[in-house]
Amino acid sequence: MTTTNRIVSIETQRLRPTSHEVIFAVSTRDDAAADDQRWTVRTVLQAMDRAERFYSQAPNGRRARVQRYACGDCHQEHIRTHISDVAIHNLTNLPHIDGSHVAVAPAAKR
Ligand SMILES: [Zn+2]
Repeated sequence: MTTTNRIVSIETQRLRPTSHEVIFAVSTRDDAAADDQRWTVRTVLQAMDRAERFYSQAPNGRRARVQRYACGDCHQEHIRTHISDVAIHNLTNLPHIDGSHVAVAPAAKR
């Protein structure tokens, strides 16, 4: 059975080079679970390797798939809303949690 995870918030970070802003962590919500679960992009990609899927949900209930992509700027993989689903909903419309304000995560900024 394929596991699907609903992303409910994102954390973004500016990366070198060219200071491009990318999603570096997300939180998912399982209606059966009390608490949201936080994932770094690395763990999202690992879950995708196991054929787990991620999506965000528009207010009207429609789902927009999340895809991985190889970044042309830093040559790492990031995640984004599937380019075919951007009209449904976009991850960037979700609440942003500013990692620099998270007290439990002392920033490793460069
Ligand atoms: Zn990049």
